[in-house]
Amino acid sequence: MTPELGCDVLIIGGGPAGLAAGLFTARADLDTLLLNDGDPILRRNAHLENYPGFPAGVNSHRLLELMGEQADRAGCDRREGRVVDLRESADGFIAETAEGRTLAARFVVAATKNTVDFLTGIDGVEILDRGKAFVDTDDRGRTGVAGLYAAGRLAAQPHQAIIVAGHGATVGVTLIEDSDVDFYHDWVTPEGYFTDRGRELPPGCEEIDKAERESREAESVATMQERFAEPHPEEPQQHPSVRDDE
Ligand SMILES: Cc1cc2nc3c(=O)[nH]c(=O)nc-3n(C[C@H](O)[C@H](O)[C@H](O)COP(=O)(O)OP(=O)(O)OC[C@H]3O[C@@H](n4cnc5c(N)ncnc54)[C@H](O)[C@@H]3O)c2cc1C
Repeated sequence: MTPELGCDVLIIGGGPAGLAAGLFTARADLDTLLLNDGDPILRRNAHLENYPGFPAGVNSHRLLELMGEQADRAGCDRREGRVVDLRESADGFIAETAEGRTLAARFVVAATKNTVDFLTGIDGVEILDRGKAFVDTDDRGRTGVAGLYAAGRLAAQPHQAIIVAGHGATVGVTLIEDSDVDFYHDWVTPEGYFTDRGRELPPGCEEIDKAERESREAESVATMQERFAEPHPEEPQQHPSVRDDE
């Protein structure tokens, strides 16, 4: 079947790991599609107090929304959809969704926590059974299949939001390094930081002048004031076994 959608990077799962991976690959101008079905487990948290940068903690729904918004701004195309099958193809991978879509991607990042059923059609992915299923990777998130990565909890990272987000970022950067994108670091620096030392601006880096920095900071201040103007309206999700509404 001819794929309905093609992209450089397909990210499966929209929790902190998938969102962080998508942020980095989209910022590197890799055409990035993120499919998510269901709720990231972080929605069960009642108040997130160990995510660096929030001295009094942060509402976990709010943090997920901000991560999603940041990925969107970077150009990551986020859609709802459940991947039910993944296969290798001549150019990368073909994914089938429960909604009947067929997607082609050069690279795939699986960030689905303990969901591995869509990986059974690929040889070379080692599934670890530790009561829950995980995917075996190297220390940069590469599976045994070239172009296929696992990020976050799925890659057996510790069950902490900052760690899985950081791992998603690691996987994103690893994928960029493994691709044909010219890349040094994803850095924004003051004007002249490289070029006033006779260095070319490294790929992936940007120098900005004072006016541009002030403009970006003003937008950042306004955005955060607006997003944090009110408490988040949603309650944390309860564990399914203790929900009384089902
Ligand atoms: C009650 C509770 C409280 C917690 N409190 C804290 C805390 O205080 N501090 C802390 O650091 N951590 C906390 N955590 C842990 C933290 O939430 C997780 O470690 C982290 O969110 C895992 O992120 P992830 O991106 O790997 O997975 P997830 O966030 O679970 O993301 C996986 C996503 O993939 C989707 N998905 C699955 N299969 C498919 C598919 N086939 N196709 C498309 N999408 C799919 C899922 O629906 C989900 O949205 C808590 C967890 C729980 C349960």
